[in-house]
Amino acid sequence: MPHPLNGTKTPGYNRAMQNVIVIGGGISGLSFAYRCATEGSGALVLEAAPRLGGCLHSQRFETGFWFELGAHTCYNSYGGLIEMMETCGLMEQLLPRAKVPFRLLRDERVRSIPSELNFFAILASLPRLFFANKEEESVERYYSRIVGAKNYRRVLGPMLAAVPSQDAGEFPATMLFKKRPRRKDILRSFTLQGGLQSVTDALAQQSGIESETGLSVQSVTRIDGGFCVQAEDGRRFEARQVAIAVPPPVAANILAADFPELSAELGRIATSSVTTVGVVVAKEKLSLEPVAGIVGIEDCFYSAVSRDTVPDEHFRSFSFHFRPGTSPAKRMERITQVLAVAESDLESTTERHTVLPSPREGHAALAAAIDEHTAGTQLSILGNFFAGLAIEDCITRSFAEFSRLQQ
Ligand SMILES: Cc1cc2nc3c(=O)[nH]c(=O)nc-3n(C[C@H](O)[C@H](O)[C@H](O)COP(=O)(O)OP(=O)(O)OC[C@H]3O[C@@H](n4cnc5c(N)ncnc54)[C@H](O)[C@@H]3O)c2cc1C
Repeated sequence: MPHPLNGTKTPGYNRAMQNVIVIGGGISGLSFAYRCATEGSGALVLEAAPRLGGCLHSQRFETGFWFELGAHTCYNSYGGLIEMMETCGLMEQLLPRAKVPFRLLRDERVRSIPSELNFFAILASLPRLFFANKEEESVERYYSRIVGAKNYRRVLGPMLAAVPSQDAGEFPATMLFKKRPRRKDILRSFTLQGGLQSVTDALAQQSGIESETGLSVQSVTRIDGGFCVQAEDGRRFEARQVAIAVPPPVAANILAADFPELSAELGRIATSSVTTVGVVVAKEKLSLEPVAGIVGIEDCFYSAVSRDTVPDEHFRSFSFHFRPGTSPAKRMERITQVLAVAESDLESTTERHTVLPSPREGHAALAAAIDEHTAGTQLSILGNFFAGLAIEDCITRSFAEFSRLQQ
């Protein structure tokens, strides 16, 4: 089939120079491509996986049932996301999230969060809330001060680990939750029909955005007037501007040959991997009350995020986010224990591996160093390791970088 931009898909063919190539088709790459498309230049997105979306990964079934293997919740404070959803005509597809609680799992018992908190310690710490300052603080130091060290260790620490699916104690406190203006006319928290991947699906359909999936990029090098993008299958692409929106270790590899200093900075960003196993179970097989999710305390999983927030008539699902090093056998054993079902009761099992940044003290300086290397060039580094890990943080970064390249 001829390629809509260049007329051919023959391997090895050197395409005519593109305006913009985006490497990585997650929300970072696609929100950058969206800006390119709406401002006129268009973009070609190259994605290694067979599907676009990255961490926006909605597992869908022929029956119409779906569940999230990755991100699950957006908020009315996600202004960049909402702007794109409005352009893509997605606002009619917004779904509210049912108000079901998060629970904790300690010593094989599902418990409510308040039952595990020591409120005297919170009361005693409360006055410190007025003086607490997130700047220069780690998540553990900041939140221990507010709820007391024991409450942090027993309850809040594991809950905060469930947010980025890794121990978040050493994260800079400023990176976890952000105050942003809210769109009061929109649901406070929401998902979409078909799941959050509907956003990246719709972005990819925008006129001006072309994409190729199943194409892993290996390197980006300088050429006259732009960049050469070399794909794993031997094809070479040329572009005036390149935006790289892949996890930091991958970006470091892609840039190693021609941008060694930038590559070294990217290589200094710590990362953590999480294996997610999503399972679907017929409703009648489960006695567990409806939950938004279960947070594992001193367990091999950080959290099991449920689809009970968008109840289905027949099925329930849980995405278990496991700590690194948990064997496949242990993962299955734990899932069946927690849900109190037999393996044969699982209607479907899907696995996903994700690499996430693990920002530490000094992260802002690292991010600034990356920006110094790309300043004044037509090369852009995008992703969830600049402003923060949330979807909106990725979009904020992409929009800001698009503006920089325009200048
Ligand atoms: C389990 C989980 C739950 C989350 N929940 C929420 C939530 O509820 N709300 C929220 O706001 N945020 C949430 N987040 C965070 C948010 O989803 C992510 O930070 C964000 O989606 C990352 O987007 P990205 O495009 O930067 O990276 P990714 O989504 O990781 O995309 C990078 C893309 O690059 C591709 N790629 C990799 N190597 C190459 C290569 N060599 N060539 C071409 N392509 C390549 C990958 O296949 C991938 O598609 C969650 C994250 C996870 C993992």
